[in-house]
Amino acid sequence: MVTNTEVKELGHFINGAIVPGKSGKFSDVYNPSLGTVIARVPIASKEETQQAIATAKAAFPVWRALSVGKRAEIVLKFRQLLTERSDELMELICTESGKTKEDAKGEITRGLESVDLAINAPHLLKGEYSVNVGGNINAYSTKAPLGVVAAISPFNFPVMVPLAITSMAVAVGNSVILKPSERVPCSALFLSELWKEAGLPDGIWTVINGDKDTVNELLESPAIEAISFVGSTPVADYIFATGSKYGKRVTALGGGKNNMIVMPDADLEQVSNAFLGAAYGAASQRCMAISTIIPVGEKTANNLVKVLADKISKLKVGPYTDPEVDFGPVITQHSKDTVIGFIDRSLKEGATIVCDGRNPDIAKDSNGFYLGPTLLDHVKPGMEIYEQEVFGPARNVVRVDTLEEAIELINVHELGNGVTIFTNNGAAARKFTSEIEVGMVGVNVPIPIPVGYHNFAGWKRSRFGEGHMFGPDQVRFFTKTKTISEKWFEEDSESVSTFAFPSNND
Ligand code: NAD
Repeated sequence: MVTNTEVKELGHFINGAIVPGKSGKFSDVYNPSLGTVIARVPIASKEETQQAIATAKAAFPVWRALSVGKRAEIVLKFRQLLTERSDELMELICTESGKTKEDAKGEITRGLESVDLAINAPHLLKGEYSVNVGGNINAYSTKAPLGVVAAISPFNFPVMVPLAITSMAVAVGNSVILKPSERVPCSALFLSELWKEAGLPDGIWTVINGDKDTVNELLESPAIEAISFVGSTPVADYIFATGSKYGKRVTALGGGKNNMIVMPDADLEQVSNAFLGAAYGAASQRCMAISTIIPVGEKTANNLVKVLADKISKLKVGPYTDPEVDFGPVITQHSKDTVIGFIDRSLKEGATIVCDGRNPDIAKDSNGFYLGPTLLDHVKPGMEIYEQEVFGPARNVVRVDTLEEAIELINVHELGNGVTIFTNNGAAARKFTSEIEVGMVGVNVPIPIPVGYHNFAGWKRSRFGEGHMFGPDQVRFFTKTKTISEKWFEEDSESVSTFAFPSNND
């Protein structure tokens, strides 16, 4: 049984220390497994946000000037501390997000991949050099940090996303301000302690807690050079438009509506096992969760639904303290009500219910925000539950006759985060990978999340701007390139004036 009665008052992390909020405004942080408030997070005022930005700006020149090797040493130390204290961090993630321990552990491991890549900053920051591009001139390029950059993160990965969108930013020499989700601020504050202990100079890592008004302060501040955002599509759209209007470099990753195509030749035992974790893991609160399974052909659909119904009915929902549990609660009561609303309306629109998770047994004895796994069959394009991202365990079956039909369906959807196909037919897989309009694509893998040293981002309205979350593109996003042309005169060299545009014929 999870027990937690103490309500902590949290702060911000500014200039190397936790400071209490001064605005008098707070937001409640819940333990979703119990449905109880565990902390109150301050909502920063305009003045507090401005002060945090000023501190970050003042700290930047010293950090920029430090050798890249020294910076990498600090990131390496941070990585060691993260590993040493991962059990505490796992407990925090579970408490504030409701994830199972196994899932929280996986999240930390994926987050560490981003830190690992950042430790390689000395190698990744190497520029380009050309000797004698003309007239004994050598040309070379360097990658300079931007200055103060802001990262804004969602609730569903309290650690992995903050690590993914800040580690490289720190390593390449920026001052970073993180605005975590107000629903899961404890993990971000814990990361602050580790940066401090690793030896990061004060002011280089800031956590400012708050809501949309705090985000607006960051978007409008002339001192902030870039914004890296991860969250829902409507907010990502807004962040990109507003940040760009204020002249910032912005990348904003949004939501997903991810599909799994099942070809008639696929092994349904493999498919169904892959689907369970990819669809319902973390109570389906993942941007790369599979929302819709698309069996090709009526026979495939009938057989698949039968296998899934049996397996889904055996899934266990409950608190993270029970090691038998497959997934935990959704993040808030509001989230739970929203998912139930989607299911209710889909039934009115003609979907049929294969497994009904609206009222799981655990919900009878607990105030936690629990939903069981729901599977809806005969879902069709145009239905609300098919078109919109549903951030909770209600998943769909959409039946099609051909692979072409499946590809077309996915390509016309406005979101394009992840997609996968299960087949033993190489030609079908090749057609699918080349024609599909989605950013992250899998063949016979349940969730095609790239590893930390590959670029991660969706297409269409799953991403605004050109940057990627983790992967080598982070170096490009968080630096600016300077190209230098350099020539040195010998003592007796002649000098002439030329009015032609310089060319390599000189
Ligand atoms: P959200 O968009 O509600 O919030 C994300 C962040 O934006 C939070 O820090 C929040 O405080 C802030 N915010 C919320 N409303 C705002 C507004 N109107 N103006 C300015 N800032 C605002 O997202 P969430 O509910 O915390 O997270 C779930 C969403 O994130 C899902 O849609 C999920 O798919 C998406 N997500 C995407 C990825 C990806 O890689 N594409 C990864 C994780 C989560």
